[in-house]
Amino acid sequence: MAVYRGKYVLRGLGKITPEMEADLDLAYGVCMEYKDGFPCEMCGRCCHQPNIVILPEEVDRVSRAAGIPLHIFVKDNLVRTSDGRMLLRKTDPCAFLGPDNRCGVWKDRPEICRDFPYGVSMFMSRVYMAVVDGSADILGLTDYMDESWPCTGVIRSSISEKVDEARAIRRERTGAQ
Ligand code: SF4
Ligand code: SF4
Repeated sequence: MAVYRGKYVLRGLGKITPEMEADLDLAYGVCMEYKDGFPCEMCGRCCHQPNIVILPEEVDRVSRAAGIPLHIFVKDNLVRTSDGRMLLRKTDPCAFLGPDNRCGVWKDRPEICRDFPYGVSMFMSRVYMAVVDGSADILGLTDYMDESWPCTGVIRSSISEKVDEARAIRRERTGAQ
Protein backbone atom coordinates (compact mmCIF):
# COMPACT_ATOMS: atom_id res chain seq x y z
CA MET A 1 0.00 0.00 0.00
CA ALA A 2 1.44 3.37 -1.02
CA VAL A 3 0.39 6.68 0.50
CA TYR A 4 0.50 9.99 -1.37
CA ARG A 5 0.86 13.21 0.64
CA GLY A 6 0.29 11.30 3.83
CA LYS A 7 -3.42 10.77 3.24
CA TYR A 8 -4.27 9.36 -0.18
CA VAL A 9 -4.04 5.58 0.18
CA LEU A 10 -3.20 3.78 -3.06
CA ARG A 11 -4.18 0.19 -2.47
CA GLY A 12 -2.39 -2.53 -4.38
CA LEU A 13 0.63 -0.33 -5.00
CA GLY A 14 3.97 -0.99 -3.31
CA LYS A 15 5.46 2.38 -4.19
CA ILE A 16 4.82 5.50 -6.18
CA THR A 17 7.12 5.93 -9.16
CA PRO A 18 8.41 9.43 -10.02
CA GLU A 19 6.25 9.40 -13.17
CA MET A 20 3.16 8.52 -11.19
CA GLU A 21 4.01 11.13 -8.57
CA ALA A 22 4.20 13.79 -11.27
CA ASP A 23 0.69 12.79 -12.44
CA LEU A 24 -0.61 12.71 -8.87
CA ASP A 25 0.85 16.20 -8.38
CA LEU A 26 -1.12 17.41 -11.39
CA ALA A 27 -4.35 15.93 -10.02
CA TYR A 28 -3.61 17.34 -6.58
CA GLY A 29 -3.04 20.75 -8.14
CA VAL A 30 -6.47 20.61 -9.77
CA CYS A 31 -8.08 19.73 -6.44
CA MET A 32 -6.23 22.45 -4.57
CA GLU A 33 -7.25 25.13 -7.06
CA TYR A 34 -10.60 24.99 -5.34
CA LYS A 35 -9.13 25.58 -1.93
CA ASP A 36 -8.88 29.37 -2.11
CA GLY A 37 -12.28 30.93 -2.10
CA PHE A 38 -13.99 27.58 -1.74
CA PRO A 39 -17.76 28.18 -1.90
CA CYS A 40 -18.85 26.45 1.30
CA GLU A 41 -22.28 27.77 2.19
CA MET A 42 -22.46 25.80 5.44
CA CYS A 43 -25.53 23.97 4.19
CA GLY A 44 -24.55 20.93 6.26
CA ARG A 45 -25.35 18.37 3.56
CA CYS A 46 -21.90 16.80 3.61
CA CYS A 47 -22.27 16.23 7.34
CA HIS A 48 -24.75 13.46 6.56
CA GLN A 49 -22.03 11.37 4.91
CA PRO A 50 -20.60 8.25 6.56
CA ASN A 51 -16.87 7.57 6.91
CA ILE A 52 -15.61 10.79 8.48
CA VAL A 53 -11.97 9.93 9.04
CA ILE A 54 -10.29 11.38 12.11
CA LEU A 55 -6.51 11.33 12.39
CA PRO A 56 -4.86 10.21 15.65
CA GLU A 57 -3.46 13.70 16.22
CA GLU A 58 -6.94 15.22 15.85
CA VAL A 59 -8.70 13.14 18.47
CA ASP A 60 -7.76 15.24 21.48
CA ARG A 61 -8.51 18.53 19.70
CA VAL A 62 -11.95 17.44 18.48
CA SER A 63 -12.94 15.91 21.82
CA ARG A 64 -12.02 19.15 23.60
CA ALA A 65 -13.96 21.22 21.07
CA ALA A 66 -16.95 18.93 21.58
CA GLY A 67 -16.62 19.24 25.35
CA ILE A 68 -16.40 15.46 25.72
CA PRO A 69 -13.77 13.92 28.02
CA LEU A 70 -11.20 12.10 25.90
CA HIS A 71 -11.86 8.61 27.28
CA ILE A 72 -15.59 8.97 26.67
CA PHE A 73 -15.03 10.43 23.20
CA VAL A 74 -12.81 7.48 22.27
CA LYS A 75 -15.37 4.99 23.59
CA ASP A 76 -18.54 6.61 22.25
CA ASN A 77 -17.59 8.62 19.20
CA LEU A 78 -14.87 6.66 17.43
CA VAL A 79 -14.67 3.37 15.60
CA ARG A 80 -11.61 1.69 14.19
CA THR A 81 -11.67 0.22 10.68
CA SER A 82 -10.09 -3.11 9.74
CA ASP A 83 -7.21 -1.23 8.07
CA GLY A 84 -6.41 0.67 11.27
CA ARG A 85 -7.97 4.04 10.48
CA MET A 86 -10.30 5.82 12.88
CA LEU A 87 -13.72 7.15 11.91
CA LEU A 88 -16.28 9.22 13.73
CA ARG A 89 -18.96 6.74 14.73
CA LYS A 90 -21.57 6.73 11.98
CA THR A 91 -24.65 8.77 12.76
CA ASP A 92 -26.88 10.64 10.36
CA PRO A 93 -26.12 13.45 10.54
CA CYS A 94 -22.74 13.69 12.22
CA ALA A 95 -23.10 13.90 16.00
CA PHE A 96 -21.52 17.38 15.92
CA LEU A 97 -23.91 18.97 13.45
CA GLY A 98 -26.20 21.35 15.27
CA PRO A 99 -29.91 21.87 14.60
CA ASP A 100 -28.94 25.07 12.77
CA ASN A 101 -26.82 23.00 10.32
CA ARG A 102 -23.65 24.45 11.81
CA CYS A 103 -20.75 22.28 12.85
CA GLY A 104 -20.32 22.32 16.62
CA VAL A 105 -16.55 21.82 16.35
CA TRP A 106 -16.02 23.96 13.24
CA LYS A 107 -12.71 25.57 14.19
CA ASP A 108 -11.35 22.19 15.26
CA ARG A 109 -13.11 19.89 12.80
CA PRO A 110 -11.17 16.98 11.29
CA GLU A 111 -9.02 17.64 8.28
CA ILE A 112 -11.30 15.61 6.01
CA CYS A 113 -14.09 18.07 6.79
CA ARG A 114 -11.79 20.97 5.89
CA ASP A 115 -10.89 19.25 2.63
CA PHE A 116 -14.36 18.24 1.55
CA PRO A 117 -15.21 17.92 -1.31
CA TYR A 118 -12.16 18.86 -3.41
CA GLY A 119 -9.43 17.25 -1.34
CA VAL A 120 -10.93 13.89 -0.40
CA SER A 121 -9.72 10.58 -1.83
CA MET A 122 -12.73 9.89 -4.03
CA PHE A 123 -12.52 13.20 -5.89
CA MET A 124 -8.73 13.15 -6.06
CA SER A 125 -8.71 9.63 -7.53
CA ARG A 126 -11.27 10.54 -10.19
CA VAL A 127 -9.30 13.64 -11.21
CA TYR A 128 -6.14 11.56 -11.35
CA MET A 129 -7.82 8.99 -13.61
CA ALA A 130 -9.03 11.73 -15.93
CA VAL A 131 -5.64 13.45 -16.09
CA VAL A 132 -3.84 10.19 -16.93
CA ASP A 133 -6.47 8.92 -19.39
CA GLY A 134 -6.90 11.79 -21.82
CA SER A 135 -10.16 10.35 -23.15
CA ALA A 136 -11.84 9.81 -19.78
CA ASP A 137 -14.93 11.89 -19.11
CA ILE A 138 -14.39 13.74 -15.82
CA LEU A 139 -18.07 14.61 -15.57
CA GLY A 140 -18.95 10.93 -15.85
CA LEU A 141 -16.26 10.04 -13.32
CA THR A 142 -17.63 12.57 -10.85
CA ASP A 143 -21.30 11.85 -11.43
CA TYR A 144 -21.55 10.64 -7.84
CA MET A 145 -21.47 14.33 -6.88
CA ASP A 146 -24.83 15.92 -6.28
CA GLU A 147 -24.88 19.18 -8.23
CA SER A 148 -27.60 20.61 -6.03
CA TRP A 149 -24.98 20.96 -3.29
CA PRO A 150 -23.52 24.48 -3.47
CA CYS A 151 -19.90 23.32 -3.52
CA THR A 152 -20.21 20.40 -5.90
CA GLY A 153 -22.28 22.44 -8.34
CA VAL A 154 -19.37 24.87 -8.63
CA ILE A 155 -16.86 22.04 -8.99
CA ARG A 156 -18.76 20.20 -11.70
CA SER A 157 -19.30 23.36 -13.70
CA SER A 158 -15.56 24.08 -13.81
CA ILE A 159 -13.74 20.75 -13.49
CA SER A 160 -13.55 19.89 -17.21
CA GLU A 161 -11.55 23.01 -17.96
CA LYS A 162 -9.13 22.37 -15.10
CA VAL A 163 -8.60 18.75 -16.12
CA ASP A 164 -7.92 19.84 -19.71
CA GLU A 165 -5.26 22.26 -18.48
CA ALA A 166 -3.62 19.50 -16.43
CA ARG A 167 -3.71 17.14 -19.42
CA ALA A 168 -1.96 19.75 -21.54
CA ILE A 169 0.82 20.06 -18.95
CA ARG A 170 1.10 16.27 -18.86
CA ARG A 171 1.34 16.07 -22.66
CA GLU A 172 4.14 18.59 -22.58
CA ARG A 173 5.99 16.57 -19.97
CA THR A 174 5.53 13.14 -21.52
CA GLY A 175 5.34 14.03 -25.20
CA ALA A 176 2.06 12.09 -25.38
CA GLN A 177 -0.49 13.14 -28.03
S1 SF4 B 1 -22.09 20.30 1.18
FE1 SF4 B 1 -20.51 21.69 0.42
S2 SF4 B 1 -21.43 23.75 0.66
FE2 SF4 B 1 -22.57 22.35 1.99
S3 SF4 B 1 -21.53 22.46 4.00
FE3 SF4 B 1 -20.64 20.73 2.88
S4 SF4 B 1 -18.80 21.60 1.89
FE4 SF4 B 1 -20.13 23.33 2.47
S1 SF4 C 1 -17.21 17.33 12.32
FE1 SF4 C 1 -18.41 19.11 11.73
S2 SF4 C 1 -17.90 19.47 9.55
FE2 SF4 C 1 -17.28 17.37 10.09
S3 SF4 C 1 -19.02 16.06 9.52
FE3 SF4 C 1 -19.24 16.59 11.70
S4 SF4 C 1 -20.53 18.42 11.74
FE4 SF4 C 1 -19.77 18.18 9.64
